[in-house]
Amino acid sequence: MERIFNFSAGPAVLPWEVLVEAQEELLDWHDCGMSVMEMSHRGKEFMGIRDAAENDLRKLLNVPDNYKVLFLQGGATLQFAQIPMNLLAGRSADYVVTGSWSEKAFQEAQRVGKARLACSTRDGNYSRFPRREELQLDPDAAYLHVCTNETIHGVEVHDYAALPDDVPLVVDMSSHILSRPVDVSKFGLIYAGAQKNIGPAGVTIVIVRDDLLGYAPGNIPSLLDYSVQAEHDSMLNTPPTFAIYMAGLVFKWLLAKGGLAAMEKHNTAKAAVLYRAIDESGGFYRNPVALENRSRMNVPFTLAKPELDESFLQESKNAGLLQLKGHKSVGGMRASIYNAMPIEGVQALADFMALFAKRNG
Ligand code: PMP
Repeated sequence: MERIFNFSAGPAVLPWEVLVEAQEELLDWHDCGMSVMEMSHRGKEFMGIRDAAENDLRKLLNVPDNYKVLFLQGGATLQFAQIPMNLLAGRSADYVVTGSWSEKAFQEAQRVGKARLACSTRDGNYSRFPRREELQLDPDAAYLHVCTNETIHGVEVHDYAALPDDVPLVVDMSSHILSRPVDVSKFGLIYAGAQKNIGPAGVTIVIVRDDLLGYAPGNIPSLLDYSVQAEHDSMLNTPPTFAIYMAGLVFKWLLAKGGLAAMEKHNTAKAAVLYRAIDESGGFYRNPVALENRSRMNVPFTLAKPELDESFLQESKNAGLLQLKGHKSVGGMRASIYNAMPIEGVQALADFMALFAKRNG
């Protein structure tokens, strides 16, 4: 089999070693005579898998003891609603809108309760994260919501110190969680869909500080109440067992690779290769994002001659570089280079880009 380089934004590339391990264990997990997919979620085998996944995630992110780790369903999109359901407690929340995903989160929150816009960078085509003094904060807000890596626009917050710390911070880290160390204690709630840096689609991770729990009104479904989920170790009903198992394998892979500090080094090196290919193309390729907010995970770029887009996509595909088409809302190209993308893949893309520019410049 020839494995291609997959630049999809998600579901995305998974570590090869993890796929091989899952394949080896697929029919018979650890000599128990059945597949993880066939296990009771309440049996000791799966409970062990689940507990190991949580413990390894805690280890990777250094999650303090006063935070719950929940494995939920419904994707990050359900969190857009579930967060205000659980945390608003009749108050209003502030939203920073820096791209399509935080825009969606803001809109969804307004269906559930009161949400205010603290700042939007829409006028600048979502090409940067605002400075702290640009945020118009409500001192009584229940929380402040930000998306620290906008998957479509490629805008990432690198300096968390720039975020306010006098209000619970609720952060959508879907597309860059586990790409580098973070100080979890700075946040009230972190959430992420799995299908980028965690594992296959189907499980959503929520890391929430204990003191934020217990405010959900009694009329929301129990499945959507974080406190109820926490009391039941996210096993109020049947969890997405296989997705949790795969996430657990990815966590072990990350630990074996040296954890998040090692990932940060690896990701910084990859991003540098790609941005160099863009910046040194003499304008043939362009990335619109402010330098300090360029994402290390999702790198959108446009061709100065958009009439070449189709041949770029076709020829890159022929070269084994797949899923480079940009999101339809912004056009152009996008290379997502999550943890599991090897530097060889990024180098192959950079080499292809240089060659394509030479031939068509
Ligand atoms: N937030 C961000 C930053 C995302 O990238 C995505 C998915 N691409 C979502 C939320 C929505 O996630 P899901 O499809 O898991 O609901």
